[in-house]
Amino acid sequence: MYIARVLYPVEVLGPGKRIGIWTCGCPHRCEGCANPELWEVDESRNIELPVLLDLVRRIASEKQVDGFTITGGEPFLQREELKALLSSLSAWSDDILVYTGYRKEQLQDSDLEHISVLIDGPYIKGKNTGLQLRGSSNQRIHILDERYRELYDLYLSDDRSRIQNFLEGTSVISVGIHRPDFAETIAQRMQERGLVDGGVQIDA
Ligand code: SF4
Repeated sequence: MYIARVLYPVEVLGPGKRIGIWTCGCPHRCEGCANPELWEVDESRNIELPVLLDLVRRIASEKQVDGFTITGGEPFLQREELKALLSSLSAWSDDILVYTGYRKEQLQDSDLEHISVLIDGPYIKGKNTGLQLRGSSNQRIHILDERYRELYDLYLSDDRSRIQNFLEGTSVISVGIHRPDFAETIAQRMQERGLVDGGVQIDA
C-alpha cells in the first residue's frame, strides 16, 4: 500500500491521541489542496501491510492509541488495500476516521466497513471557513458508528480548528485544518526572519 507517512500522536484530526496515516495518490486535484505532493503515487512509498501493522503495533505497545485517522491523498484510490488496513486496525480501536474527496454516495457499503466517521467531498478553497475537522464547508461529517456520536459531538463543540506541528529531520509537518493562505504566510515569516526553509509540509 502506498503510504506517505504515519504520525503519532495526532490530536487535531479527531478525538484523543490518534495514529494518523497519509496515503499517496489522489485523482481529485482540488484547487488549493494542502497536500499536492501526495497527488502522485510514489513507488518508493509502497509498503507491505504487515510492515505498516508492525509499526502500529510498536506504537500501540508503548503509547495510548485512542483511534486512527486515515487521510491522504485519496485513501479509496487503494480500495482493497484500504479495506484490509481498516479491518486490521479495528483490532486496536474501532474509532477510525477516514477522509475522502469522493462523496459518500459514490462509495459502496462494503467500502465503509470498519469506519466510524467518514468526512467526504472535495476541498473547495473558497469554502474554507476554519471549521473543525473540515477543510471546507461543503464537506460532510458522517458518524457511521453511533457509539462515537457523543464523543465527536463533544470534540466538534470546540469550534476552534487547531494545528499541530511535527518535526521530521529539518522539516516541519504541520497537521490540521489550515487557513487557505497558511503556507504563504509561514514561508514569508521564515524569510523575514532569515530562517533556512527546511520545508513546511501542510497536512490536512
Ligand atoms: S484536498 Fe484531498 S481530495 Fe482534494 S486533491 Fe487534495 S488530497 Fe486530494
